[in-house]
Amino acid sequence: MGEFDLIRRYFQRPVRRAALGVGDDCALLQPSAGCQIAVSSDMLVQGRHFFPDADPGQLGHKTLAVNLSDLAACGAQPLAFTLALALPNADAAWLAPFAQGLLALADAHGCELVGGDTTRGPRNICITVFGEVPTVSGRSQALLRSGARAGDDLYVSGTLGDARLALEAIGGQWQLPPDLFARSAARLHRPDPRVALGLALRGLAHAAIDISDGLLGDLGHVLTASGVGARIDATTLATLLMCRGPALDAVVPPAHQLHCVLAGGDDYELAFTAPVSARSAIEAAARACATPVTRIGSITAEAGSQVVDGQGQAISGPWPSFDHFS
Ligand code: ADP
Ligand code: MG
Repeated sequence: MGEFDLIRRYFQRPVRRAALGVGDDCALLQPSAGCQIAVSSDMLVQGRHFFPDADPGQLGHKTLAVNLSDLAACGAQPLAFTLALALPNADAAWLAPFAQGLLALADAHGCELVGGDTTRGPRNICITVFGEVPTVSGRSQALLRSGARAGDDLYVSGTLGDARLALEAIGGQWQLPPDLFARSAARLHRPDPRVALGLALRGLAHAAIDISDGLLGDLGHVLTASGVGARIDATTLATLLMCRGPALDAVVPPAHQLHCVLAGGDDYELAFTAPVSARSAIEAAARACATPVTRIGSITAEAGSQVVDGQGQAISGPWPSFDHFS
């Protein structure tokens, strides 16, 4: 199978929305009138982000999911994506399930594959996604990191920390009961990008970010960009781990569970802030897109994040977030 056979066989499909898809020097996108284009890239590198024997279908899903998560964090509607792929060889047994996992998620979000690049090399998968966000009277409706205000409520979607638990279990740190391992591994391998919630939060949330490197670290980007701080309720955090309960407590100390929630990474949930006056609207938005959200604290005028226990006492801990170069 040559390079162009490979592209035709696995990645060339008729486009519905884009003006031109795979096959020419450029793809052509047709954004809706009055919309801005939101663009984001994420790369997954073998040995860094995934194991050499990683399931190709899950990898296809995850590579697009982490990109769609960035669109979600901006409140952008997915439109299209490109795929830059380095592969050691043209292996149909890898390509077929990879393309299937990738394109199934793409179809679920109406996000079309419109182009890319294919080259021989150590396995490396880079996706660039394009989405659209409306402007209203010339003002962008995109959710940004810089919009949080003192007094805002602080929320997160879904559950946090389980992907990290799975990664640690795979690394041999914990022996999780099989059902807990299966559930947490699904969170690690098949993240569900919160696109519908991101869209529903337009006009409601003041600021948003997706959690890829750990809650505290990613929230820190919002706080810095907005010039504010946060106070977070540890009692609520403890309820965010999907696998929580006596079976997990028997294996993983609660302090480490909290660590996974605060600094785990690979969650692909949204953290966002909204004015107190929007509480019922946020609840309604979360219900409408069947995505649970939890209020975990509030935004403060003083810089930095403080995690407080049930008595309002600050808890400290080293909760470093992930950084490729530190
Ligand atoms: P060029 O040489 O002009 O960059 P290529 O020969 O690399 O174009 O690619 C031919 C066509 O196939 C282009 O439309 C390109 O966008 C598309 N393409 C290449 N690799 C991929 C891929 N992995 N997935 C989807 N489209 C691809
Ligand atoms: Mg060309």
